[in-house]
Amino acid sequence: MVIIMKLAPVNKIIPFSNVDGPGNRTAVFFQGCTFDCKFCHNPETINMCIGCSECVSKCPAGALSCQSVESARAAADERSADSSTDSCKSPGADAGMLSNRRGSIIWDSTKCVQCDTCIRVCQSNASPRIRYMSVPDLIAEIRRTAPYIQGITVSGGECTLQNDFLIDLFSAVRALQDSPRLTCLLDSNGSFDFEADPRILEVSEGVMLDVKAVGKEWSRRLIGDPGDLVLKNLDYLLKAEKLQEVRTVIIPGRDTENEETVRYTASKIGNACDYRIIRYRPFGVRENFQKELGEDETPEEYAMKFVELAKQYGAGRAYLV
Ligand code: SF4
Ligand code: SF4
Repeated sequence: MVIIMKLAPVNKIIPFSNVDGPGNRTAVFFQGCTFDCKFCHNPETINMCIGCSECVSKCPAGALSCQSVESARAAADERSADSSTDSCKSPGADAGMLSNRRGSIIWDSTKCVQCDTCIRVCQSNASPRIRYMSVPDLIAEIRRTAPYIQGITVSGGECTLQNDFLIDLFSAVRALQDSPRLTCLLDSNGSFDFEADPRILEVSEGVMLDVKAVGKEWSRRLIGDPGDLVLKNLDYLLKAEKLQEVRTVIIPGRDTENEETVRYTASKIGNACDYRIIRYRPFGVRENFQKELGEDETPEEYAMKFVELAKQYGAGRAYLV
């Protein structure tokens, strides 16, 4: 019997990160997002590749190639057929192969010079440099860093698009016998209904939640979604004591919108968790959105006013990032 493992599209893994939750952590970034935030610094993580092949001929290192859907399937089948009765298979994970609707883009990580040309060329907010990985693939990576980290953080894109995969991953991390107890955190945009399906919370320490906008109109403009579920999650995660931290980005010159978002959020979270007030920074933001939101970062003094406001409204653990 051939067992096909669940796979998830991984954009990148940072073995040691001190900005993705408390302590030193291994951070796994999954491809694909549910929102389209104007200030996104990694817009290449938003969509899945559609296989248009525009980036292939532009790659200066010859690290990208096309494969027809038929031959991609045949290759995957061949790899699957190689598995024996008691072994598990993760087709495509080792080759960094990306199957998609119109064809397959093969990324050869050994040739890639990380120049980001493919990211700049892509008109679909996607990346050809993803790997489909299984839970054992990721556990193998985590085992390497385990002696030096406090835990793992899953991010994106939006990691909860891989909810079932994450439940398996976190369960496997918790079952690791040969490492200190690692914590498991989610970095989420709040588009997953944690109350309707709380299984992931049972195997994780909590969620680092973005509250980007309060007010349907501003939320629609900023993230492409009215944001109701984000605010419902804020309430639910607080009640469930699974809120690790909350983040809000301060957009320059948007006094009313910034104020409403910070006031609402601060009065909800109080001292329950950290509240990170983040300055908008244009680096990596798409050009058209830079024009709309600003080509300069939010001045520190301006952002500090919102830290003070947050404290005034009860968020004792508010600080500036
Ligand atoms: S980042 Fe890698 S795959 Fe992309 S264009 Fe540069 S060398 Fe090619
Ligand atoms: S990464 Fe973008 S440019 Fe490259 S094949 Fe996929 S959709 Fe096309």
